[in-house]
Amino acid sequence: MHIAKASILGIPVAQINMEQLLTWVEKRIEERQPPAHVVTANAEIIYRAWRDQQLAHLIQQADLITADGSGVIWAGKKLNTPFPERVTGVDLTQRLLALAAEKGWQVYFLGAKPEVVEKAVLRVLSQYPNLQISGYRHGYFSKQEIDQVVSNIHMVKPHLLFVALGAPRQDYFIRENLTRMNVPVAIGVGGTFDVLAGTVSRAPKWMQKWGLEWLYRLCKEPRRFGRMLALPRFVWAVWQQSKNLQN
Ligand code: UDP
Repeated sequence: MHIAKASILGIPVAQINMEQLLTWVEKRIEERQPPAHVVTANAEIIYRAWRDQQLAHLIQQADLITADGSGVIWAGKKLNTPFPERVTGVDLTQRLLALAAEKGWQVYFLGAKPEVVEKAVLRVLSQYPNLQISGYRHGYFSKQEIDQVVSNIHMVKPHLLFVALGAPRQDYFIRENLTRMNVPVAIGVGGTFDVLAGTVSRAPKWMQKWGLEWLYRLCKEPRRFGRMLALPRFVWAVWQQSKNLQN
């Protein structure tokens, strides 16, 4: 399956819609292809990678990078390489859980606070009683505990691993342990478990439609302000990239 990619500040983001992505994941699982790492990339992480070569290298190695966030969608348009739609970690997780329940795939949830991941699992199970959950674990573990976390995942053999440790920690974790865990598809999903658990609510549909989800999150969690300064910096950097392309 050929997937076109748009280079956003040097990060190759897939020009793919949700349906195509679900087909891609299905193929990886059903055809038992080597373990794959999926990154859901928003403007903040792409900007960080632009400033940090080690992170850029790590993300560039991912098997698929989705356009998560209105900043990335804007950048695609600005650089004349548009994305068909936003593919966020939350939406992708929800669609994959439905597909996993239908196909009998086993899933594993790694990340978030203990009470959050537990609540997320319970709510997901009440929505999909047939879903096979091979395990879950909170995301507050030490470096010394990594081997044990990894060997547990390897032992229970999920088809799909959702890692919600926040970016870029989740992506370092997946890249460094993907082969050892041997899961067909591992995805970094940021704050998704908080949404699944209902402890954080998503922006209303109209705000999502107008690309204002970041504003909603900022109002709900003002401590994110510092992190959100990456957004105007990202816009400026993409602007420079588009000017360089024109010259
Ligand atoms: N988290 C975690 N372990 C940590 C730090 C964070 O499991 O050491 C979880 C945190 O509880 C939250 C998620 O990672 O559920 C990060 O959420 P955030 O909204 O910051 O995600 P991002 O904006 O980075 O996608």
